Amino acid sequence: MLIVIDGLTPSMLEATDAPALRFLLDHGSYRRAVSTFPSLTPVCLASIATGAHPDIHGIPHLVWWNREEERLVEYGSSFAAMRASGLVQGVRDTVVNLNGRHLSRRAETIYEALEATGLTTGAINFTTYRGRHRHLSPIPGFPPVYGPKRFFFYSVYESDRTGAPIAWLNRSLGSIDGYAAAIGRWLVTRDGFDLLVYYLPDYDYASHAVGPDAAYEALGRADASIDALFDAAGGRDAFLERYAVVLCSDHGQAAVTQAARLELDGALVTASNRAAMLYGQDPRRMAQAFDGEPSVDVALFLEDGELVARRDGDEDLAILDDYPDGLARAGAAVRNPNAG
Ligand SMILES: [Zn+2]
Repeated sequence: MLIVIDGLTPSMLEATDAPALRFLLDHGSYRRAVSTFPSLTPVCLASIATGAHPDIHGIPHLVWWNREEERLVEYGSSFAAMRASGLVQGVRDTVVNLNGRHLSRRAETIYEALEATGLTTGAINFTTYRGRHRHLSPIPGFPPVYGPKRFFFYSVYESDRTGAPIAWLNRSLGSIDGYAAAIGRWLVTRDGFDLLVYYLPDYDYASHAVGPDAAYEALGRADASIDALFDAAGGRDAFLERYAVVLCSDHGQAAVTQAARLELDGALVTASNRAAMLYGQDPRRMAQAFDGEPSVDVALFLEDGELVARRDGDEDLAILDDYPDGLARAGAAVRNPNAG
């Protein structure tokens, strides 16, 4: 059982008295970890599903330039935000193309790997879902997709009839995690999988609204969604007897207090709160242009295939020692063929 609480910070988890999370903390081992880079949800979830950095899985950012199709790809800050914006192409990119076209065939998902050995995998609402089973959507306009055998995606794709409520009825009251809980309960009751990826995004949604360390109520709902799995297994101890559990986040976040705007003639900028990418002809010129720009910490680019890290005019890969696993993460981000 892999449980992912989107955007959960270590400080929130370590201080929690939410009962299901506390039970798992008290009955397991706990370590802090580092996300991949850039630490944006689609990039991180692709890394969790494939065990690879972006140089292998190919998902570079929340928003990026697709060189092959010569157009911007925008996954949206969340599927909900994308859906609210009503952008047909954005929904199609987020739901369908991310798995069907953007996720590199060089990467193998955990569903593909395990189902090749005859095991049954499942995923609930997890953005990276590519698998071996074809699923149809009852909603007009959504084409067939390939996912794990047990596949549930925001009421858009459902491999089994579970009686779960519609995922979208009331997001601010936690209807997405509630939908996950209803399906999780159904699956655990039937012991219907060898691996289940159980994704809870409502915490991230709430922490964007009220701040990363103030989303207690949303964390309580995520906790209740985990507790629902315990119940379905016949209690907490029975649950841990039946399943090995990994609970993790995809990234943390910090409060954003200042905004910056990057612009450069001849370059296309795609950006979000954690990183900006520039697409243009001369990477060195683009990096130099932002020397002294306060919102740019380190500029990264490839020159003759070699990684260059530049900060305020100094170029030295030792700059990356200031960050956990910095050299590997920066190199993998820039060596993604879809990256700026
Ligand atoms: Zn996330």
